[in-house]
Amino acid sequence: MIELRSDTFTLPTREMLEAIAAAPLGDECYREDPTVRRLEELVAARLGKAAACLMPSGTMANLSALLSHCPDGGGCAVLVGDQSDIWEYEDRAVPTWAGIRYRPLETRRDGTLSLDEIAAHCAAADPRVALVCLENPHNLRGGVVLGLDYLERAAALAHAHGARLHLDGARLFNAATRLGVEPARVVRAVDSVQFCLSKGLAAPIGSMLAGSAEFIERVRQTRKRLGGDMHQAGVVAAAGIVALERMAGRLEEDHRHARRLAEGLATLPGLELDLDTVQTNTVVFRVADPRFDWRSFADALSEHGVRVSDFRFGRLRAVLHYGVGAQDVARALGAFARVLESGPRVPRSESAQTV
Ligand SMILES: *Cc1c(COP(=O)(O)O)cnc(C)c1O
Repeated sequence: MIELRSDTFTLPTREMLEAIAAAPLGDECYREDPTVRRLEELVAARLGKAAACLMPSGTMANLSALLSHCPDGGGCAVLVGDQSDIWEYEDRAVPTWAGIRYRPLETRRDGTLSLDEIAAHCAAADPRVALVCLENPHNLRGGVVLGLDYLERAAALAHAHGARLHLDGARLFNAATRLGVEPARVVRAVDSVQFCLSKGLAAPIGSMLAGSAEFIERVRQTRKRLGGDMHQAGVVAAAGIVALERMAGRLEEDHRHARRLAEGLATLPGLELDLDTVQTNTVVFRVADPRFDWRSFADALSEHGVRVSDFRFGRLRAVLHYGVGAQDVARALGAFARVLESGPRVPRSESAQTV
């Protein structure tokens, strides 16, 4: 099976499993796991931030960032994009328990929020905007990458109004690869950033949240309250270290494969996609062939050995990762072509009789 539903399907490499077996461990709830320390120091240095903290997931990293930037709740507001992962996929209710109020702004096609709108919200005194959240690359916009200039201007704007900027950089290393700069450059202006070890970097578990030392101390308290403290967390961190040292440098290959897949799909009658959005490891497309809907197309494709995911609004998504090689891309394109040639699969009852 060629697994294109997500880069979260990546399995840990042999080197990760060996690193896990060899990792020195301690109880991280006492801050005594040396492997976690090593990963956190590595990440802080790599991102040019004072400190970093291992989190069980990207969702908890974003939530902890929100709660830690608005420590006394008190009706402060957080600006988020209406197509952001934070707004669309992470439970909106939880931050409101802490008195945080979301203000969703329109997410434009390039993944940005309007700076004028950010400024207008920040200028309002009640509720006070404590935090602006951006996403880079932007998942629901197809993996598009925010420019360095935009990030710096958004940060300057937030700071001018006494607000902070948090970056949901679940696939931060893909953004840096696309921009051709170090991840530290991408996050230079932001106050906090989370990225997932468990996506294209292929670690089995975990995210990192980075920022100032004082902010990360608050994050550690928040993580504990949320039940996110893990004891021998070096088991998780050991794979994370390998992810950073071995996997971050190969993402360009996934981007090349995404490009090849997208260019192949664009030639197939019956599929629609915007090649301009193919900037990282993600290909979003729509089935225009009237014989199919997205579900019947995905089902038929799966029968031909390729899995893609539902991506809302009638769209489908294919995500490239190290488990999918150049030959798999060629085979996947063959499967797409065959599905479009043969039409929707026969109804279940009929297919059962023919077996
Ligand atoms: C995957 C993802 C998350 C959440 O990460 P989990 O580790 O799955 O909780 C957050 N934001 C974006 C943009 C993501 O793609």
